[in-house]
Amino acid sequence: MDTTYDAIVIGAGMAGLTAARKIAEVGKKVAVLSRGLGTTNMSTGAIDLLGYTQNKLVSNPEDEIRSFVRTSPRHPYAILGNGDDKKALEILKDSIQEFLKITKMAYVGDTTRNVVLSNYFGTYRPSCIIPLTMKNGNLLEFTDTKLMVVGIRGYAEFNAKFFAKSLHHTVNSFFRQNTLKEVVPKEIAIPSLGKDKEITSIEIAEALDTEYAFSRFLEQLKKSIIDIDVEIVVIPAILGYKNWVQNHTILEKELGVPVFECLSLPPSVPGQRLQQILENAASDVGVEIHRGIQVLSAHIENNECKTLETIADIYRQTFEADVYVLASGSFIAEGLYFDGKKIYEPIFNLPVHSPNRNNFSERRLESGKHSIAFAGIQVTETMKPIIEKGDEITNLFAAGSILANYDYISEKSGLGVALTTGYRAGMNAINKL
Ligand SMILES: Cc1cc2nc3c(=O)[nH]c(=O)nc-3n(C[C@H](O)[C@H](O)[C@H](O)COP(=O)(O)OP(=O)(O)OC[C@H]3O[C@@H](n4cnc5c(N)ncnc54)[C@H](O)[C@@H]3O)c2cc1C
Repeated sequence: MDTTYDAIVIGAGMAGLTAARKIAEVGKKVAVLSRGLGTTNMSTGAIDLLGYTQNKLVSNPEDEIRSFVRTSPRHPYAILGNGDDKKALEILKDSIQEFLKITKMAYVGDTTRNVVLSNYFGTYRPSCIIPLTMKNGNLLEFTDTKLMVVGIRGYAEFNAKFFAKSLHHTVNSFFRQNTLKEVVPKEIAIPSLGKDKEITSIEIAEALDTEYAFSRFLEQLKKSIIDIDVEIVVIPAILGYKNWVQNHTILEKELGVPVFECLSLPPSVPGQRLQQILENAASDVGVEIHRGIQVLSAHIENNECKTLETIADIYRQTFEADVYVLASGSFIAEGLYFDGKKIYEPIFNLPVHSPNRNNFSERRLESGKHSIAFAGIQVTETMKPIIEKGDEITNLFAAGSILANYDYISEKSGLGVALTTGYRAGMNAINKL
């Protein structure tokens, strides 16, 4: 295997694949090294830009992000523009335009407007750039609406009866101008699945990619809505891996009403679709994606990263490039590691910044805004890790959820920060080459 590149990106999530694609687009030879799948693959597939600030639902993410440059100058969105809010927004919009382009119209959204979507529990969350199959699920647009919610036989993760009750309560209690008249649960079967054992979203999505299973599914849906005067049909996120957009279009046409998929739990079919979109777009411009390779350490000489030591099964290899992008994710992907006392970045041993170093055990994780969520690598305006003077690594950039000073869980900004900082790190890496 060739192990010498212009650029090597560590991590195959939203940040790493975005950075790699950007660099390869200008004709550079790029490799992505990835131990496995990260959190991008687990996500709901809907790209949150900024859902909450100070516990309040954000309606216009652009407005709030603009003010971050003044109020939270170390937030990754503020760093994008190097203190200039116009530049930060320009990068944000450009990165989203390019993302929408690679999805070939399978995603929609507007950076000035959040939508509010329902999850498998019938509660809600804001998001912004969303799969086409979710576009009719904006709860803020419902007025006295009657919904039918579809459960699948054997698919226990999505309980249509529970969802129906919960969504009815959620919308009628939490939104002032929006109401649901009724949410009617219905169960249907996928041919040959779910009779004798529980089935997963993955099995259903694979089945619905076949014409036979999809047409039986459609037939049953048509029968179910006869005599119920429904205005919208809600389904779990199962519409296929290959044919999801086409299947959605056919459903809406044949049923004559809007249909939407709701936000799912891992294993998430829309998260897996997103992963595939990003990988395909990177491969299309020549990025080599090496899966199953763990980067163990880096060799630094004269303030430059010279090589990376890697392991795949029992085989060790050295990779070499002119520039490197670290996009190895946060704790779940193990880009950061917490041993109970201290947080480490295991490859470069970069300093990990956290607002409250010694206090992680004092507050329970679920209490919200736990300080560990803000931990990560601090970067300069050029997305280079901040290291003590004299120890800088001049050809290293960092992006995505490994970055410090934001909490994607409470503010709902996960994939948005990963996309925009990955894009920015890619641009800066090009300038260095
Ligand atoms: C369950 C769940 C649901 C979520 N849902 C949403 C959502 O709906 N919307 C949203 O906007 N955000 C969501 N998020 C947050 C969002 O998924 C993340 O913020 C985002 O995906 C981070 O992208 P990333 O590229 O930084 O990292 P990741 O996608 O985590 O990728 C990290 C990559 O680095 C690789 N890696 C790590 N260490 C090494 C190593 N030593 N060598 C080689 N490779 C390595 C991993 O294998 C992986 O490929 C969710 C998060 C979780 C956990």
